[in-house]
Amino acid sequence: MLFEKYPFKLPELPFAYNALEPYIDGETVHFHYDKHFKVYIDKLNAAIKDYPALHNLTLYELLTNINSLPASLRIPVRNNGGGVFNHSVYFDRLSPEPKPPKDMLKKEIDKAFGSFEGMKTAFNTAANAVFGSGYTFLLRVDGILKIISTPNQDTPLFISDEIIAVADVWEHAYYLKYKNERAKYLENIWNVIDFSLV
Ligand code: MN
Repeated sequence: MLFEKYPFKLPELPFAYNALEPYIDGETVHFHYDKHFKVYIDKLNAAIKDYPALHNLTLYELLTNINSLPASLRIPVRNNGGGVFNHSVYFDRLSPEPKPPKDMLKKEIDKAFGSFEGMKTAFNTAANAVFGSGYTFLLRVDGILKIISTPNQDTPLFISDEIIAVADVWEHAYYLKYKNERAKYLENIWNVIDFSLV
């Protein structure tokens, strides 16, 4: 998605809505993908529709040059472009048949967090601490794995685009099944996070 340009399109979900059950329920995946994710794409397209010069820019270029956009576009691109990017990474890394980290990544995780379990604990602590809506990312910054959180639809692109894992902690990502129990959603999400893409 990062290197795509206007008009942005909703990619096809590569698995059935209910394929992530029992960890993420089909109704949540359906609404999250076809409604929330799609609305960010539609609103980003609408925001830049009348600015043909911006149609040559990739999503990455839009998101990393927000301050050089026309002033009226900065908030819409930050929120909706960020929503497009964050959701594309989130769904890209979910799989009904997730693979564990391979040797090199496993070593990086052990080095940074002691163990895979240590990484999960640090990640979930950060994700549970997000106040309101946002995301938590495991990413590589200058060759070192770090965990950071962003509010709303802000992306981690200001620090890195090497994203290993991500949790959407907006309530729409878990409320239908988990209600107020974000921690349970975060415990279960590791059963469907695929490490083979990174
Ligand atoms: Mn979401």
